[in-house]
Amino acid sequence: MSQPKVLLLGPPGAGKGTQSGNVAETYGVEHVTTGDALRANKDMETEHGTPREYMEAGELVPDPVVNEIVEAAVSEADGFVLDGYPRNLSQAEYLDGITALDVIVSLDVGREELVRRLTGRRVDPETGEIYHTEFDMPDDDAVADRLVQRDDDTEDTVRERLRVFEENTQPVIEHYEEAGELVRIDGEQSPEAVWTDLKAAIDDA
Ligand code: ADP
Ligand code: AMP
Repeated sequence: MSQPKVLLLGPPGAGKGTQSGNVAETYGVEHVTTGDALRANKDMETEHGTPREYMEAGELVPDPVVNEIVEAAVSEADGFVLDGYPRNLSQAEYLDGITALDVIVSLDVGREELVRRLTGRRVDPETGEIYHTEFDMPDDDAVADRLVQRDDDTEDTVRERLRVFEENTQPVIEHYEEAGELVRIDGEQSPEAVWTDLKAAIDDA
């Protein structure tokens, strides 16, 4: 498939951002991520307040704000990999009305591994590249020295984000599974093995 429309689902820390980079690079499609878009606009005033207050608490930003971000991004892209959206059934319904997806994947990872991945996650503010203190640090010391931790990757906020995932986003995964549209991938494998499975799922679609 040349310009696929890929939806990557999974809990925070499952590896969606990491694997989206592979999809975007290999298939030449847009990486559409509500998390990055909201982080770049944390203090934007909306009628629901600013994204910051929700994000720092680990709660979902109100649907109208994220729906608008996604609609603008997907309407401009021929193909895309969508990461971080939809996070509840109402967002899934909205997405259904604005685009048709080619592949829907769930990256499955257990809770304790998610906590370990999220609390150890570090991001390069210059390139957006994702690293991990134990599993994946850059070779270049200059890059290692400038890595930052996201404000919401602290243990308490991580646990709240996982609770919000169970309550709101798990039903979205079940919805696609019941519709027979979901491909499940074991996200606890190495990043390379996850990518092999994900690429196969896209090429088979
Ligand atoms: P998400 O976008 O789903 O929240 P990320 O792609 O940011 O997840 O990954 C979360 C953390 O886990 C990062 O620190 C990343 O380096 C690490 N990571 C991603 N995939 C794997 C993997 N397969 N095995 C171990 N660590 C991983
Ligand atoms: P992420 O980068 O995907 O882990 O998202 C970080 C935070 O951004 C989440 O904890 C939410 O506060 C907010 N966010 C990202 N995507 C969405 C979405 N689709 N709906 C609501 N809030 C979102």
